[in-house]
Amino acid sequence: MIIMKFGGTSVGSAERIAATADIILSAKHPVVVVLSAMSGATNSLLALSEGKGSQDSIIERHTATAESLGLPKNICSKIHAIMDAASTPSEIVACGELLSTTIMHSYLCSKGADAAWVPALDFMSVGTDGEPDTKTIKRSAKTAIEKTGQHDIYITQGFICRDSSGAVSTLSRGGSDYTATLLGEALGAESVQIWTDVDGVYTADPRRVQTARRIPKMSYAQANTAARRGAKILHPDCIRPAERAAFPVQVLDSFHPETGGTIIGNFNDDKGFVAIASLESGNCSEVSIIGHGDAMDDIKQQLSPLNILNIVQNDGYVCAQVSTEEADKAMNLLHDAFINIK
Ligand code: ADP
Ligand code: ASP
Ligand code: MG
Repeated sequence: MIIMKFGGTSVGSAERIAATADIILSAKHPVVVVLSAMSGATNSLLALSEGKGSQDSIIERHTATAESLGLPKNICSKIHAIMDAASTPSEIVACGELLSTTIMHSYLCSKGADAAWVPALDFMSVGTDGEPDTKTIKRSAKTAIEKTGQHDIYITQGFICRDSSGAVSTLSRGGSDYTATLLGEALGAESVQIWTDVDGVYTADPRRVQTARRIPKMSYAQANTAARRGAKILHPDCIRPAERAAFPVQVLDSFHPETGGTIIGNFNDDKGFVAIASLESGNCSEVSIIGHGDAMDDIKQQLSPLNILNIVQNDGYVCAQVSTEEADKAMNLLHDAFINIK
């Protein structure tokens, strides 16, 4: 069994939902699909949960998407029912994934696919410490899926969960990646595919470092470090379940399904640096260079045009603290000097 996770941009419009559905339909079945909310929906819902913005515009966006996809009329009452049932702030925030999966499920069924909708709230639970309760998830995920009968495609929600008291809650932002790998661990998946808007993990965020390039293969350890040090393409916690259960994670581009990709697995690391990432906290940024190398003096030298607030060697990365204004410059300097070596 393969788990396919699609992020917000992969379900961000009627056109993207149709393209993502094609990827799901051509996958090897049975498959479990984990979806995020439509891009921007969680932000709108967060605002709504704080009494800002309007519920109507969220309903309108999803209804218009469903109409563009030519879905049966009863989808409108389903969209309204999901929003009307939410009362606590977390229940409101959780609507994004409930809505995107309801639309995708209806679209796949309209294409003649054998797809079941599986409620993540029936299996995804966190303990009193806020950490996923992997034992409960393992037991309940199988039951929740089996309850729907045998199908080619099972669609469920990323990000949303129940807390230890049973109330609706959510993982941290970007948590659908984590749902996917936790589910992979619970179901003994062959692999987890993270489908997004770039064709793999890059040597740095390609929006910030123009010369960044795709990394075809990464070890669990270095992918985990990159994710934890701010490479937003992966949720900070999502590599651990994959490493525990020893299945590979593939990062793929839903806009160009045939191209590239990164495979994360049980590979040995060579000496040298592989990626740059940055974590913002307040006015400061921690820019990390990930990999193995004895280069502290060279790193300091490269960053000398900038005001380095602190620099520390850690296990598997070196972290330099700079003002957030200088973070892009630091990333580019380190990338040119240590990653883009010809
Ligand atoms: P999704 O909505 O699919 O979960 P995200 O926005 O969370 O997508 O993650 C994809 C984005 O992560 C990319 O568009 C890219 O700008 C950013 N990103 C940050 N670091 C990296 C990296 N090292 N490699 C690739 N993309 C990165
Ligand atoms: N929709 C959630 C968010 O925006 C979860 C995710 O996208 O993974 O954070
Ligand atoms: Mg993401």
